[in-house]
Amino acid sequence: MSAPAVVIPERSGTAFALPRGATLTVIDPRGEQVADLLAFNADDLDEVISSGRTLDYAETIRLTTGHKLYSNRSRVMLEIIADTVGIHDFLLTPCSTDTFLHFYPTLPVHRGCFGNLAEALAPYGVTPDRIPIAFNCFMNVPIDSETGKLKVLPPVSKAGDHVVFRADMDLIIGLTACSAPDSNGGTFKPIEYRID
Ligand SMILES: [Zn+2]
Repeated sequence: MSAPAVVIPERSGTAFALPRGATLTVIDPRGEQVADLLAFNADDLDEVISSGRTLDYAETIRLTTGHKLYSNRSRVMLEIIADTVGIHDFLLTPCSTDTFLHFYPTLPVHRGCFGNLAEALAPYGVTPDRIPIAFNCFMNVPIDSETGKLKVLPPVSKAGDHVVFRADMDLIIGLTACSAPDSNGGTFKPIEYRID
């Protein structure tokens, strides 16, 4: 029996413990919605998910089923064991107040995934400067192979698409429903997750 899904309301975030061996399913319930995922070693917050280590060892930026997400200490934190989408991002930092000032100067400023993660992780002892590049579930960031130019396009995820991660150590997880217009096709939707 699967555990019931928990809803992360639009433009918000949460944090929770994920024990070693448990699986975390991140679900896009309506489609075209990004979820930023962070992982910290529950026993030592200095050990944290690392984009650089992970992309180096994977030898690709296209992370999907079978790929492992590494810490700054080169230990496996999470393994992707199922993925119905195959397009995610591990290059860009969580959207923030500064993201809005930079890219959306005419829109109301939002604290973004960064602010949501900072608040959700504070009770676990994570201070804002510890927040690294997140694994951005469903985020679609194609790279022009000639020029290297990045684009942020709407996710290709459809309603019900999901990614399943298995924890390789006891973790504190931060997870959001992303707040940035371009990342989410211009609308803001909830994200759901399940721990089994
Ligand atoms: Zn975001």
